[in-house]
Amino acid sequence: MKIFLKPGKEEALLRFHPWVFSGAIRSADGPVEDGDVVEVYADGGQLLGVGHANAAGSIAVRMLAFAARSIDLDFWREKLRSAYRLRQQAVLSPRTSCYRLVHGEADGLPGLIVDVYGATAVLQAHSTGMYLARHELAQALRSELAPSVAAVYDKSAATLPASMEAEDGYLWGEPQQPVVLENGLKLAVDVERGQKTGLFLDQRDSRSLAERYSAGRQVLNLFCYTGGFSAYALRGGAAHVCSVDTSADAVAHATANVALNFGEQAPHQAIVANSFDFLNDLTEKRYDMVILDPPAFAKHRGAAGHALQAYQKLNALALKKVPSGAIIFTFSCSQVVTREQFCGAVFAAALESRRSVRILHRLTQPADHPISIYHPEGEYLKGLALYVE
Ligand code: SAH
Repeated sequence: MKIFLKPGKEEALLRFHPWVFSGAIRSADGPVEDGDVVEVYADGGQLLGVGHANAAGSIAVRMLAFAARSIDLDFWREKLRSAYRLRQQAVLSPRTSCYRLVHGEADGLPGLIVDVYGATAVLQAHSTGMYLARHELAQALRSELAPSVAAVYDKSAATLPASMEAEDGYLWGEPQQPVVLENGLKLAVDVERGQKTGLFLDQRDSRSLAERYSAGRQVLNLFCYTGGFSAYALRGGAAHVCSVDTSADAVAHATANVALNFGEQAPHQAIVANSFDFLNDLTEKRYDMVILDPPAFAKHRGAAGHALQAYQKLNALALKKVPSGAIIFTFSCSQVVTREQFCGAVFAAALESRRSVRILHRLTQPADHPISIYHPEGEYLKGLALYVE
């Protein structure tokens, strides 16, 4: 199948940007089905590359190669090999056995996420094209990563349109119930019932940084999920850690992860609560280290304004409730909120609180969530470590 662009619309692809917007397309040489592999041509007839056609949303094609190329088992194997080589350098060590192997556009595989938890790889398709390729992808994962990986779980049901009627399940191998290591800390991962693919692997570097600041502190880990930041803070010598999440499953899991590393008597408490209410109800300035890692407040561009208000509200609440000398780690994982906008919301929160606030660190996603220089939209995680007086 061939797709022809309107005059001048080849510019973005010549700069290796991987998206073709529907408005850029002049015609096709037949009916294009969602998920088809299509060849993309400039108006002058020059082949620009091949990609997956996409029916939903404004991105009509996601590019897989910028030249003629068959999209077959060899193609997937080559991409996975390159992705794995990078992770071996950037993340994998005897102390870390969980990592993101494929981060969409940044690994030349738009629409695909693969996270590895010990011997289990979790594949998540965000496009029909990747979903249709899932069996070939599982085969490629097996040939590139076995024996270290022994199972591939497909967790695409929630990331594809409901009309696809996708069901989660193992494409290869048996359930493993992984307990992984992250910088030497043990974390049990529930790939089937957990949020996203099981863990938020993108906070590994920031958790390490938080560990360095936590000695002797009263730590409040809001939006704790399975307690990643809590475990690091305890290892860093925190006097006490309080973990808060609205999900009872997450809170139980955080308690279990802490016990796995530090036993039942660790100075840790986990509470099911809304973080906004929890901060509002605090009567004394007890916590001198606070982690604010909320879910994406904006899932699409139209929601960015509301999201910024929510970031400001959350940060202002925290800034008002910490004692002098406190550290706040604050994050936004909303892709549609820029770093400048997020910093603007934290600035407004600081002003509202009238506290002295200094930026100690600007935080971002780790090296197994790389950003293609041609696709800056791939930067989504923004954070600040603040010192408050
Ligand atoms: N910091 C975590 C990841 C956080 S993901 C880590 O390092 O693993 C966001 C979490 O916020 C989810 O677990 C979700 O259940 C929780 N959540 C969403 N809204 C919330 C709210 N208003 N108050 C508390 N937790 C909330």
